[in-house]
Amino acid sequence: MSSLPGVGRRTALRLVLNLLRRPDAEVHAFADAFTRLKSEIVYCRECHNISDTEICPICGSPRRDHTTICVVENVQDVMSIENTGQRAGVYHVLGGVISPMDGIGPKDIEIDSLIERVAKGGIDEIILALPTTMEGDTTNFYIYRRLQNMGSEVKITQIARGVAVGNQIEYTDEITLGRSIVNRTDFNG
Ligand SMILES: [Zn+2]
Repeated sequence: MSSLPGVGRRTALRLVLNLLRRPDAEVHAFADAFTRLKSEIVYCRECHNISDTEICPICGSPRRDHTTICVVENVQDVMSIENTGQRAGVYHVLGGVISPMDGIGPKDIEIDSLIERVAKGGIDEIILALPTTMEGDTTNFYIYRRLQNMGSEVKITQIARGVAVGNQIEYTDEITLGRSIVNRTDFNG
């Protein structure tokens, strides 16, 4: 229980004690709902955002700009950017960043599928919205090189560095994050 994100050992213990005091039927209903939730959540086939359908509502929306792909580290980042109200087109969730120290290489995250999306055509811009960390920078550069190597003419931009170095996108306030999307700059490696 203490491995739940944001839940400390004491909170987890309180949660368990609270559940133990409840009638069995209620606890079973809770467990069922939880299991159902987990089995019904899938990842969007296109952008790897969490979804309850094969194609998420963002990828499926005709009102979105499908020529711009905003590349983010995780699902929380999609929510953060959506909350800014800045329309950053559609997304591509990598599910991590390249981190040799943690043994995470390009094949461990959704980079190949991003390259495939670009190769299919119809993409004008890739917005790199990864954390301003060494791992984020490494990943930006790797994606840039892969796109260059395939001779892609797609415009590559990076969100403005209003975000303090080391900040994770999901912890940045909405106004700063919104501004950093508007003020994005060309990425030249
Ligand atoms: Zn999607």
